[in-house]
Amino acid sequence: MVETMRAARMHEVGGPMRIDEVPRPTAFGSNVVVEVATCGMVPNLGNVLKNWPSWCPHLPQPELPAIFGLDPAGTVTEVGENVIGIRAGDRVYVSPVRSCGACPPCLDGKRTECRLMTFGGYFGFQEESQTLFDQYPHAGFGEFMLAPAYSLVKLPDNVSFEDASRLGYLGTAYSALKKAGHMGGKSVLINGGTGTLGIGAVLFALALGATKVMVTARNRELLARVRQLDPRRVHVFSTEEGSIQPWVRSLTDGGGADYVLDTLGAVASLEVMKDAMLSVRRGGRIVNIGGTAGEMAIDVKWLMDDQIAFVGSVWFTTAEGYEMVEMMRARIVDITGFEHRKHSLDEINEAINGVGSGDGGFTSYMVTPR
Ligand SMILES: [Zn+2]
Repeated sequence: MVETMRAARMHEVGGPMRIDEVPRPTAFGSNVVVEVATCGMVPNLGNVLKNWPSWCPHLPQPELPAIFGLDPAGTVTEVGENVIGIRAGDRVYVSPVRSCGACPPCLDGKRTECRLMTFGGYFGFQEESQTLFDQYPHAGFGEFMLAPAYSLVKLPDNVSFEDASRLGYLGTAYSALKKAGHMGGKSVLINGGTGTLGIGAVLFALALGATKVMVTARNRELLARVRQLDPRRVHVFSTEEGSIQPWVRSLTDGGGADYVLDTLGAVASLEVMKDAMLSVRRGGRIVNIGGTAGEMAIDVKWLMDDQIAFVGSVWFTTAEGYEMVEMMRARIVDITGFEHRKHSLDEINEAINGVGSGDGGFTSYMVTPR
């Protein structure tokens, strides 16, 4: 008889999740089974899922019904016969990146550059993603999940499951900062710096040695709280007060920021994003990890004349996950004081609709399936 487990599944686009009894996975090959303790989520996932067909028509979701849940952490309960170095009982974070494993980018450790790159429990980047959804049909909004050994980050004892289930958004910011360049002694503008992605970017920019972290957003109360993360190095500006460019230039001797990181959300204004981008110094780098979509007019000759690089970045590598948890273990990056909004699997629909929205990126939202 097949053992079953409880999992929240979406049956129609934007429709409510239903709690279903589904077959419980068993480990085989190079895969393990993880008992999910917590799964992180964006505050307003419900809105994202509802608007998916219009916001992201080019990014296929799994065939429905499907289990969602992007950012799980838990305990390994069973390992496949080919798994070496991971044991039952290990506490792990499960990166949702699934890829072919055999193409040049995968072989180079850059699985997010794989043509088949797919976010288990969320969406893919091309039609063939369904093959990977079929191989790994589980995700964080279920009691157990099958996960490839390559997706696991073993957690130090002092990194909690709650904090680990925030790694997706921390890691997206961390990897983007690494792609921007060396941070020691540099200035970085973080546009949208009070949100889930933005605060992660501020924390890691500080940890990596940036000496001028300029944070823009709208909410002044949240900005004041971000400033308190390091009042000597963090500068804040509300975009309700006007243009970002003169403010950044006033702080950088007229030159502009070494790096600009855009972390704005899906409904943000392209004009604010452009204002931030134009605050970069000659020879600087702009990295985009936000959800803002649409076409923007940019003078391409400016990119040449001023030697500007514009880089897009998605997620992070599992190795970068290990770097981050080691920095969290050493408390170089500390998110232990953040508020946790926990919901059980039965409260999944309230959870994904962001009921009682918290303090921007200082609140972590999560589902606890067990
Ligand atoms: Zn590949």
